[in-house]
Amino acid sequence: MNCCVECFNDTHIRNTIEQRGTIGNCDFCSSKGVPVYDIAASPNPLADMIISLVQSYSVSDAADAKLLKTALHDDWNIFTAGGETVQALTMKLCSSAYRADADIFLKRSLSRNSMTKIFSGSLEWSEGRAGASFLIQ
Ligand SMILES: [Zn+2]
Repeated sequence: MNCCVECFNDTHIRNTIEQRGTIGNCDFCSSKGVPVYDIAASPNPLADMIISLVQSYSVSDAADAKLLKTALHDDWNIFTAGGETVQALTMKLCSSAYRADADIFLKRSLSRNSMTKIFSGSLEWSEGRAGASFLIQ
């Protein structure tokens, strides 16, 4: 399945898709003739980024916990798509790390405290909840 540049707001993700992908049709947002990226590709820097992001959340009973698709949409300006597409895209991109029926996709979750701890090494997250973006080094 293909995702595409139009699925994402994030500049670095869009650049990754443009540089590593092909031109085709998107299976998630139905854009046609756009730079697309096969989510089954290996290695898959796009999936690695999203898996790291999902791993920064944990299931929680707290009052302000949200469904992951809502939290991802609200906390990070990464996705262009709405909640259902975010859910489908996230589940597919995370399929090497999470089952589709994993609690993180079904129950409410909260972001853990420090993103920067998770995004050490080759991936760094430029902090800022409103305008988050990935830096690939
Ligand atoms: Zn798309």
